[in-house]
Amino acid sequence: MSNPDFVLSLPPTPSLPIEGVSARFPIHRIYCVGRNYAAHAREMGGDPNREPPFFFQKNPDDIVPPGSPVPYPPLTQDLHHEVELVVALSKGGSDIDPDEALSHVYGYAVGLDLTRRDVQAEAKKAARPWATAKAFAASAPTGPIQPAARIGHPASGRITASVGGELRQDGDLADMIWPVPDIIAYLSRWFVLAPGDLIFTGTPAGVGGLQRGDVVEASIEGIGTLRTAIV
Ligand code: MN
Repeated sequence: MSNPDFVLSLPPTPSLPIEGVSARFPIHRIYCVGRNYAAHAREMGGDPNREPPFFFQKNPDDIVPPGSPVPYPPLTQDLHHEVELVVALSKGGSDIDPDEALSHVYGYAVGLDLTRRDVQAEAKKAARPWATAKAFAASAPTGPIQPAARIGHPASGRITASVGGELRQDGDLADMIWPVPDIIAYLSRWFVLAPGDLIFTGTPAGVGGLQRGDVVEASIEGIGTLRTAIV
């Protein structure tokens, strides 16, 4: 939109729909947790022991709202799906106490952390950052936000991803190495969290490649199913 205080028109605010609420959830930042399910840590060649969580980021405008297709990204031959519980924050802060952390949560959604796996493997080998592997356009398809006021704070529940009807990922939120309150507490020691932040909380085992024409069905018990077409 045009504003005389700025030399360029202001970019649109990325946002997600909210189940049962007509207003939308505005997105501030997107944080992601690496390796948060032991079986996936093992399939990626990592140590599933309880080391402190590590984080990377996507860009707020990488979000794909529910129902929109994802164009297969350039510069990869190995686009992977990672189904994840997404936490949407209504309150920010630093050094948040784990016992207080859930009071900062607005709600939850089903998300996909789409990954250029071949690019990520090269980055790991060269000890380079993951930005080109993780933070590309349309890399974060996400379903509608379910307010915690409606569904509570799920600490367990089946989390799955199917491609073309074939079950690929199958886990349970209870298998997270670091549960949501701990993730928020840790993250708030490194970053000043803000209302509108989203946190992708890691993926269970079974990640795999996608092709143009595939439809990914990502589900979390009690939250919903996100259907994403790769085009
Ligand atoms: Mn992930």
